[in-house]
Parts: sequence; C-alpha cells; structure tokens
Amino acid sequence: PHSQLIKRTFQTIPHDSASVQGDSVRVFQWNVLSQALGQNNDKFDCCPLEALEWKRRRCHMLEEIVRHNPDVICLQEVDHFDFLSRALATQSYSGLFVPKPDSPCVYIKDNNGPDGCAIFYKNNRFDLLEKHDKILQVWTVHSNQVTLLLILKDKCTGQELCVTTTHLKARKGALLSTLRNEQGKDLLQFISSYAGDRPTIICGDFNAEPTEPVYSTMCSCPDLPLDSAYKVSGLEPPYTSWKIRGGEGEVMHTIDYMFYSKNKLTVSSLLNMPIERDIGENRVPSMSYPSDHFSLVSDFYFNKISKDSE
Ligand code: NDP
Ligand code: CA
Repeated sequence: PHSQLIKRTFQTIPHDSASVQGDSVRVFQWNVLSQALGQNNDKFDCCPLEALEWKRRRCHMLEEIVRHNPDVICLQEVDHFDFLSRALATQSYSGLFVPKPDSPCVYIKDNNGPDGCAIFYKNNRFDLLEKHDKILQVWTVHSNQVTLLLILKDKCTGQELCVTTTHLKARKGALLSTLRNEQGKDLLQFISSYAGDRPTIICGDFNAEPTEPVYSTMCSCPDLPLDSAYKVSGLEPPYTSWKIRGGEGEVMHTIDYMFYSKNKLTVSSLLNMPIERDIGENRVPSMSYPSDHFSLVSDFYFNKISKDSE
C-alpha cells in the first residue's frame, strides 16, 4: 500500500572510498514521542486526536523505522518497549531498554510504565558483547536522565562498535542549559570508560541547540574526538523537531544529533529532514508523522586507518 508517511530523501556525502573498508553501518536516531506524554502532556492542539491514538501511531512508528532498514536503532521516550521489541524481532532486531528513574509518564493515568532509552541492532549482523547503562549525574548528584551503551561486534569482519544513546533534560533556561552541559560531561566520561579504542556513535535527543555549551562539549572531548554526522553536510539541519503546543505556540529547533568518532568513521549518506510543504502547516505529530521529532539516519563506513594514527 501507498505510504501515508511524510516522504524522506537521502543525500550522499562525497568521501574517499579508498580510505574506508567493509559494508557501511546504517544508524537510526529518533525521539519517538512517548505515548503517555504525547496524548496527555504535550498539548499538541493542532494535531487530530486520532493521529495520537496508539493503535494508529504504533503502525506509523514501526513504518518510519523499518522503511530505512537501519542496522542500529537508537530511540528515546520509549514507553512501549515490549511492543517495539516484539515487532522489531520479526525484522531480526534485538533490543535493550533503560527506563528513566522517575519518568513523568508514570504519573499519567493509564500510562504504560516509565519512558526511557532503547537500542536495537540487527542480530544477523552484530553480536552483543557488552551492555552498560547509567543515570547521568549533575555535579555528582543523580539526575532523571539516563544513557544506554552497547558494544557490538560485526559477525563477518569482527569489527567492534560502541553505540550509545541518551535523552538529556528538557526545557529552556540558563540553568537548564548548564545542567545539560554537566550531563554531557558525565556522558562522555561514561563512554570513555567503556569505548576503549572502538569507533563510537552517540545518538540522542540532547534538548540543546547547536549554540548550547553541551554541543561544544560533545565536539571537543580530548579522550573521544567526535563530530556531529549532520554537520558533515555543512550545517546542522534547520530543525529536527517542529511542533505547535497549546500555550507555548510553534517551536522549530535542532536538538537531536548523531555524534561519531571522526578519526575512525566516515559519513557516506544522511537522511534529509522533510521539507516544510510536506510537513504541513500543523507541523508534527500529524496524520502523516507519529512524533514531534524527525528521525535522523546516517550511513557510516569504518576507516581503514584511524586518522589519529596516521
Ligand atoms: P524533562 O524536563 O526532561 O521533561 C520530561 C519530558 O517532558 C520530556 O520527554 C520532554 O520531551 C517533555 N517536555 C518538554 N517540554 C514539554 C512541554 N512544554 N510540554 C510537555 N512536555 C514537555 O523532565 P524530567 O525527566 O527531568 O522530569 C521532571 C518532570 O517530570 C517534571 O517537570 C514533572 O512534570 C514530571 N514529574 C512529575 C511528577 C508528579 O507528577 N508528581 C513527579 C516527577 C516528575 P522532549 O525532550 O521531547 O522535549
Ligand atoms: Ca517529548
């Protein structure tokens, strides 16, 4: 059947094919929009109620994921992990989930449990070597945000990859921006302690525009030289989230990222953000897109020689 989802196109990133090896790894990043929050807290006044019904939304959610056939899937605001896990298992994915310690979802009537971060990987391509998770700390005190880290091993090449996801503290303000930066520092310390020499990809909803300190923190870690995948195309996209909320009005901003080891990996293609006309004047979520965040997809090649050892 004809897809009802907003159409998406890829852009190819020119690169030196002689300096990379093996098959590329397609990584998918998405804040799926928690069912409990989306229906009860977000006040998406311009979105028809039926678009937010779980029975409809879950189909679009799955379609948005599987239509891009990713090898690795990083998700945030997941409050239906069991559903996703069962559905994605039919497409050869295995997944892990870490809930937020005090998820706002559980205070909502008819909730489906806490929301949290999840990572799925194609189990016919990768073996899971290690799994670690952490409640992010701010000045040594636990916050309400978590991170999940997997070490994956390519079954064919033996190549290992560290994949991490997180969903940083939401909302505007100088103090919150500082708080996100502290979460970012703790995240980097956590990843550095497990990634070792492995190529690393960090996907998430950082709730911070590129001008926020946490973005610079992520791109200037001495132990872990990272770059933002979408930045490789020149600029970050003009938006990764575009919504209209009652009270708050229209919000269009870039807050979701895929950071990667710039010396060990090469970006070869990126999924473009949908154009304004296709998004529609009521923005998202909508009948043609199930979340207020757009998914990010990037293909990464492993470099033959790490650029830091040249
Ligand atoms: P965050 O500030 O990180 O936000 C939690 C979620 O709310 C995120 O998924 C975020 O989505 C979403 N969100 C952000 N802005 C808005 C908005 N304007 N309207 C609706 N939803 C929004 O919260 P914490 O995880 O730190 O948890 C604290 C929050 O949890 C409190 O603000 C409180 O509302 C709730 N809570 C309630 C309790 C209670 O009822 N007794 C107890 C504990 C927590 P995104 O990242 O996509 O922006
Ligand atoms: Ca949200």
